[in-house]
Order: sequence, then C-alpha cells, then structure tokens
Amino acid sequence: MKTIIEPFRIKVVEPVRQTTQEEREAALRRASFNLFQLAAEDVLIDLLTDSGTGAMSQEQWAGVMRGDESYAGSRSFQRFQAKVQEIFGYEHVIPTHQGRAAERILFSIVGGAGKIIPNNTHFDTTRANIEYGGGTARDLVRAEARDPTLELPFKGDVDLARLAELVEADPRRVPIGMVTITNNAGGGQPVSFDNVRGVRAILEAHAIPLYFDACRFAENCWFIKTREPGFAERSVREIARALFALGDGCTMSAKKDGLANIGGFLATNDARLAAEARNILILTEGFPTYGGLAGRDLEAIAQGLDEVLDEDYLRYRAVSTAYLCDHLHAEGVPVLRPAGGHAVYLDAARFLPHVPKAQFPGQALACALYRHAGIRACEIGGVMFGEHAQLELVRLAIPRRVYTQSHIDYVVEAILEVFAARERIGGLRIVEEPPRLRHFTCKFEEL
Ligand SMILES: *Cc1c(COP(=O)(O)O)cnc(C)c1O
Repeated sequence: MKTIIEPFRIKVVEPVRQTTQEEREAALRRASFNLFQLAAEDVLIDLLTDSGTGAMSQEQWAGVMRGDESYAGSRSFQRFQAKVQEIFGYEHVIPTHQGRAAERILFSIVGGAGKIIPNNTHFDTTRANIEYGGGTARDLVRAEARDPTLELPFKGDVDLARLAELVEADPRRVPIGMVTITNNAGGGQPVSFDNVRGVRAILEAHAIPLYFDACRFAENCWFIKTREPGFAERSVREIARALFALGDGCTMSAKKDGLANIGGFLATNDARLAAEARNILILTEGFPTYGGLAGRDLEAIAQGLDEVLDEDYLRYRAVSTAYLCDHLHAEGVPVLRPAGGHAVYLDAARFLPHVPKAQFPGQALACALYRHAGIRACEIGGVMFGEHAQLELVRLAIPRRVYTQSHIDYVVEAILEVFAARERIGGLRIVEEPPRLRHFTCKFEEL
C-alpha cells in the first residue's frame, strides 16, 4: 500500500474550538500581536511547539496508574532507569523535571568561565545555561545549513574542520563536545552517523568526552536508517544504541522523543560526574530516584521511549511532516528544505519580500496565519534572536500523535490562501519589550 496512515486510532477526544474571523481579530489585539499571549482556547490548530504537547498512549496512561510514588527507590524509577540504560547504554541515569534542568546540572559541573562548548547548533536553553555559568557556546554546523533551499540529507552535521581547529587551538578549554540530534535550532535537520563518528575521533584524540543533546534521537535515527548508506537493514533501536555508544552521555527532554508531557534526564558513563550531578539534583530537583518528577511521569517516559522507536510510528511521523512541507513547496510557498523531523519552517523573508527585516516578516506572517485560520505558529527570526537572526522563519511544529491528515490538509489550504493574498500583509513594530527573551512577552503594533 502506498498510503501511510496514522498507526493508531483515537480513544479519547479533546474538542477544538472554531472561532470567527472577528473573534480572532479581537484575540490578536488583546494579545498585542504576540501569539504566546493568546489563550489556547482561541487556537484551532496549535503548532507553537512539539514540546510536551504530544498524545500519550493507552500503555502510558496505564503506567500513570501503576506509578510508584515512593520517595526513595521507587519501582517506577527502576523501570525508567532500566529503559534508559537499555536504549542509550549509559550507566548513570539522573531524572530531571525537563531537559534544561539536565543542562543546568551538566554545565554547572563542566562549564564555567573560559570554557568553550562546541555543538552543531546549541538550542536556546543549552546556550543560556552555558553562558549563565560564564562559558562560551560555539555553533559549528556545516555551512550549507544556512541555505534554506539546499536539499541535503544531513544538514545538521557538524563542520569537522572547524571543530578540529577549535579543539586543537586549546583542548583544555573544551571540557566536552556536544551534538544535537536532530538540530532543532537549525530546522530539525538530522546528523549523520558518519559525522558523529568524525566528531568522536576529533574529541577522542584529546580525551574530550562527547555528550548528545538527544531530544529527538529517534527521529534522527530514522533519518540515518532511511538516508544514510549502509543503515537500511538495521533497526532504529540498533542504530540508536550504536550512535550513543560513540558518546559518553546525553541530556534529554522527555517532552519530545520521550512522548511524555513533562520530564527529562542526564545520563552518563562518568561515575564522578554522576555523583556530583546527584548532589546538585538533591539541592534543586529532588532525590535521585525521582528528580523533580512523579513516579507516574517516570512510568510514562519509560513507556514512551519504547514506543518512539516503533518504526511504523517513525515512518508516519517523517512522512506526515514531509507531506506538509512538500505540498507547500510544490505550490511555490518558500519553505526550508528538506522537511525536518518535527517541524516545517516557512521562509518569511521570501514569503513577504515587501516587509523589511526591521518590520518582523516572521511575526507578521504568524499573525496572518492565526487571523486567517486560527493556526498558531512560532516566529523564529528577528523577534526571537534580534540582530543575530540568520533567517526569518515561521516554525510549524507538529505535536506527536495529535493531529490527523485532515488537520494538516486544513493547514496547507490556509497557508496557500495566505500566500495568495500575501501582498496585503504589512509589518509590525515593537512597542514594549523586556530586557531578555523578549519574544515571549513583547507587544507589537501593526504598521
Ligand atoms: C526542548 C529542547 C531542550 C530543552 O528541553 P526542555 O524540556 O524544554 O527544558 C534542549 N535541547 C533541544 C534541542 C530541545 O529541543
């Protein structure tokens, strides 16, 4: 069969609310054209993020009931720990309330003033945690990643020549190297197995450990299986095991490929680092067998980590994201190519060439999509990154197992209609902004 279907059927439904154009107009004004300020109830299809917004399975909900809420030594922790050890292969497993807590703990141990942490592209929380400790976060993604039109299988790869140059300049300043799979800040693009092997070799020559930011590891391993020569016959589970064996540990947000609504962990083979991490964990997250989570959350994550490696699920996931991207591309809508694992990115600079960067074309486009069809997307451009923005993008992140093909068809139709009337979309200006992370709370006015 050519048709790839959702590999599940729906047992519990959550109604979504249709709104009128007038209601959306009023909601947009109340939110001062900042979509983070909208009430979720006023959104029909919410593509703001894929983080923690997925649907849990019947086995995960059954796990919620089985959760052992013992303060110490809970059965749920044992199940969680065994599952992480089985899939990731790292000995020490430290649960945290979400990914950034694992990052904070890791960098409060290995980071600090004078330290440089290379990565393909640091996610914003990773960068913030490194910089908060006085360290430097260095992005070394391959140069081709900056061209949104180039069709390459592994646009998340690290530029090995630049990594070698950085490490060889002063290896003592590089406490660990990182690779983010998939590269979220770079369009959800995967990293090849071969590239990770290259990163490993460069770091190993100087005894520098390699840590993965593993948030979307299953999607990345699916792309390795389907795009990288020599991997087609191996299971995604085997590929994941082999990939993680090239590293020494990872940070993980279970809100992505953990298929859970909350949670994360730090895993490592370094016993000394783990001991230190557990001491910090007790101070700020909780006892090492729950780390800021309930026993039921640990159950849901343990189950989710197994389900995310199901190849019917991963095929459906990759195909449904590509379906949205390819439809828009075929109709001439400027999108970042090729489709990533978790999201489709509209290239607002080419979508709205008449709106200058200073008038936030990404934000203007995101507002137009909401106004026209009740779809909420996320600006990733000048509002979020200020003058450091490389591209003006609007991210349509796809929550896991939540929307069906007809929802996505609706999104395609809405974007095509907005595209047809794009000349009528004007820019915005900021009228109020906080000193940091302005995209969450700043207010806009239409020009
Ligand atoms: C989401 C994310 C994080 C942070 O995880 P949280 O659970 O949101 O704290 C870190 N790295 C990447 C690549 C992410 O996508």
